[in-house]
Amino acid sequence: MMKKNTITGAICLVLALAIATVTGINFIELKNPGDIIPGPGVSEVHMLSEYFDGIAGTNGDTEIYVMQGKKPGGKVLILGGTHGNEPSGYMSAITFIENAVVDEGTVYVIPYTNRSGMTHNDAQEASPQYIHFSNKDGAVRTFRYGSRATNPIDQWPDPDVYVHAASGQTLSGSETRNINRAYPGVENGNLTEKVAYAITQMIKAENVNLTFDLHEASPEYPVINATVSHEKGMSVASVGLMELQFAGISMALEPSPVNLHGLTHRELGDYTDTIPLLMETANASQGRLRGATNEALALTGIDKAYEKSAELGMLYVPYDENGHPIEERVGRHLQGIIEYTKSYSEQYADAPVSFSNVPGYAELFTDSDGSDLGGARLGQYLN
Ligand SMILES: [Zn+2]
Repeated sequence: MMKKNTITGAICLVLALAIATVTGINFIELKNPGDIIPGPGVSEVHMLSEYFDGIAGTNGDTEIYVMQGKKPGGKVLILGGTHGNEPSGYMSAITFIENAVVDEGTVYVIPYTNRSGMTHNDAQEASPQYIHFSNKDGAVRTFRYGSRATNPIDQWPDPDVYVHAASGQTLSGSETRNINRAYPGVENGNLTEKVAYAITQMIKAENVNLTFDLHEASPEYPVINATVSHEKGMSVASVGLMELQFAGISMALEPSPVNLHGLTHRELGDYTDTIPLLMETANASQGRLRGATNEALALTGIDKAYEKSAELGMLYVPYDENGHPIEERVGRHLQGIIEYTKSYSEQYADAPVSFSNVPGYAELFTDSDGSDLGGARLGQYLN
């Protein structure tokens, strides 16, 4: 009898260890947002904690890719992954890192701005865990589809009401983990506030002239296919917007509301010398009217429910059977960075920034016959 119990116990123990090992490996893998393979333009890789050691050793610390030009000039910062469920944001930043060559000035790219948010999904949203691309050599590149908010493992519980420290503005408690409501950040605050503080410190320390924050939104959200600018960026944005129209991109220009606090386009402009611009593309996989939610939806945007919603006049973007593929969305962001940086460099000629080898809207989207959209074409620009 003893012997039989011992055998049963041993089998249970081995099974339990096997399950713990498999799930443990899975849990560790989920913490990797996706490896980045720097292109020829990357001169150094730093950690954000070098600007504020209060985030050192946390899941909020994140890589900064530095791309220094041969000639001196101004400074541009590209923020991807503010919201981990908006893949065109971080994929645009990654495509820039893996391709761009900077000629004048310096470009800093933070692909996973809220890195903690890239380590989990939004509960009950049925989001895919990963998105995949076949790169230029045919190898598979894997990136996480993350969350809008900091991982509760890193910051919990949420208060009932979130009070924005600098202004006293109150929002729903879950916004406590939204980094784009936390700027300019709090030195001794929660993790989200500390990461926002670190980014503000970095912008001040490096004297960043122009900052891009790359987002996506639901097709039924009014601020879409749009650029939101702080008042001091309106002249740069309006000239760049005309160039975008010539490139075939319909873009709205929205002034940053002065009484809406915590966002990059408000606080980075108020608290630092940088000109902050935020761009939004249309992502069906985070929308409320979507059908089945999976990797294909995130990459193609093809969705019958959104086609129907467009017919009913419920959307702020055109929507047909071609959806809004990741190439269109990344192409819009990268063309926006190209045109707004040119416009900035013309207006601030003492501190210009210029770069080449970044695929734009034509290369990624309009030059395609449509057969390679939904990830295959973007993959050809990944190392
Ligand atoms: Zn967003």
